[in-house]
Amino acid sequence: MLEYMTDDIFEKILTGEVPAEVVYEDDLTFAFLDINPNNPGHTLVISKKHFLNIFDVDIDTFSAVMRTVHALAPVIKKAVDADGVNIHMNNDPGAGQVVPHLHVHIIPRHEGDGFTLWHGKPYEEGVGAETAAKIRAGLV
Ligand code: AMP
Repeated sequence: MLEYMTDDIFEKILTGEVPAEVVYEDDLTFAFLDINPNNPGHTLVISKKHFLNIFDVDIDTFSAVMRTVHALAPVIKKAVDADGVNIHMNNDPGAGQVVPHLHVHIIPRHEGDGFTLWHGKPYEEGVGAETAAKIRAGLV
């Protein structure tokens, strides 16, 4: 399983200690190009205040991050003449999160770019209903 980087490199980007190609900033959020893009224009939107991920962020901050994602996605798509974009977020090392600072990926996509998502498979008999029941029970 992956582990978190020991450093919060994004905090250093926020303070200017580490350089980045910044594309947007407001009171609560900050956006810059990913240093290892899946495709050119791959952008990370982060919260200025430190949160680890979806599990500790407050709803107002997360809403602000998603507002920025919503504003940037069409601009990025147009800027790099993409066919579409994926909005992606890794939460905890078990889901591939490496940098310990909340961030959402905006990944421009081009037909035939070779970036593949995993393939889903149908539920076995009864497992879908059982899983949905567990989720509903967790909401009360
Ligand atoms: P994640 O797996 O969701 O934690 O992704 C972290 C992302 O941060 C990766 O896509 C890295 O390429 C990106 N990244 C790491 N260091 C930097 C950096 N100094 N500047 C820009 N992006 C970075």
